[in-house]
Amino acid sequence: MKLSKLFTKTSKNISAQTESINAKLLIRAGYIYQEMAGVYAFLPLGMRVIKNIESIVRVEIDKIGEELLLPSLSGRDRWHATNRHDSIDVLMSTKPANEKALAKSNTEYILNPTHEDIITPLAKHFRTSYKDFPFALYQIQTKFRNEPRAKSGLLRGREFIMKDLYSFHTSEADLNDFYETAKASYVTIYDKLGIGDDTYVTLASGGDFTSSYSHEFQTVLESGEDTIYLDKKNNIAYNKEVATPEDAKKLGVNFDELEQVRASEVGNIFPLGTKFSELLDYKYSDAENAQNVVWMGSYGIGISRLMGVIVEKFADEKGIVWPSQVAPYQYHIIALSDEANIKAGEDVYQALGAEACLFDDRTSASTGEKFADADLIGCPVQIVISRQTLEQDSVEVISRSGKFDSFMCRLDEVETIAARLA
Ligand code: ATP
Ligand code: MG
Repeated sequence: MKLSKLFTKTSKNISAQTESINAKLLIRAGYIYQEMAGVYAFLPLGMRVIKNIESIVRVEIDKIGEELLLPSLSGRDRWHATNRHDSIDVLMSTKPANEKALAKSNTEYILNPTHEDIITPLAKHFRTSYKDFPFALYQIQTKFRNEPRAKSGLLRGREFIMKDLYSFHTSEADLNDFYETAKASYVTIYDKLGIGDDTYVTLASGGDFTSSYSHEFQTVLESGEDTIYLDKKNNIAYNKEVATPEDAKKLGVNFDELEQVRASEVGNIFPLGTKFSELLDYKYSDAENAQNVVWMGSYGIGISRLMGVIVEKFADEKGIVWPSQVAPYQYHIIALSDEANIKAGEDVYQALGAEACLFDDRTSASTGEKFADADLIGCPVQIVISRQTLEQDSVEVISRSGKFDSFMCRLDEVETIAARLA
């Protein structure tokens, strides 16, 4: 993509209300646009990052479940059936907007914040014989929650993207097996996203669910909204909201040895047990034709929150620093504003391919602006073309993160850059 054609431009000024680092950087660089508190548009650059995160998640979750897409709207009866209509305080609903519309119909719908209540009746519709089990279904979809504090940019949206997986079993043992498989998939996903070293499997309370424990995946982050206790020796953590010194004792850990840190919850897995299947009367018939209650699990990953977490984790004073696997483009070609540089930039762009490059082909931007924009946007590799590099028939290859020392590469050998960086 050429910067002269890219829909967005970088900006220096953003609203004083924007508090979080991730929103500040993502808005300035042109990844997202704030519609209102907790509600953002993903712009072309931002969409590319979201797609990259989603595809890392899909590769792993496709191995354990089938993808579908559930509706965002549901009837209120679905939520009454599980007694969650009144217990979920962030639940949002729609109403006809004006008098004229109300006169025609006053039906109110729920904007789904999660989908246990929706998928359980759907699963029951298709699968009721023991031969049909186990199975798991997932989606990547927009969720709605009326979050009271929506000041953390993508870390806490009122509308946000989640991957949610639901599993269905004929026994607790089978649920537990699958739960461990899903937990392992999650570990792989956070590794692949580049935050594995700082993401801890964290013991937490069951939250809205009846199970006594669930596992959160918490990424250590100063601006994170949670506090966790790290047990680095055993590579596990405890959420502050759940872990008391008594709990720790039961788990055989010395509370005083744990390190207290701030973290952001990037995923959460729950053994739901039979809570929803009992409430919604979901049973399967076994080999003797007896009716038994179904066992369930639910497994979420915060796709859009992850984008914010990755920004906050790696950003420096100059801007965003993307890990290459989620970066919108691998290369940012900085051709300093003169005809010969831009012409050589065009050749490099052709050689590396439009899909891999953001090419600053602007003729009017100053050298300072070009470097500042490249640092702000945060593509992993910067390729500089200037009068000096062209004197050597070369480009200069620079790492945005400082991961490698910059080096010169001959113009007719730019195709080898990827191999040299591998
Ligand atoms: P939190 O405690 O942060 O409010 P939660 O425990 O209510 O989150 P879950 O229901 O477990 O969230 O949702 C699964 C995942 O979705 C979370 O682990 C998180 O990564 C993401 N998520 C939840 N709420 C939000 C939100 N308001 N904005 C962005 N991502 C969110
Ligand atoms: Mg959670």
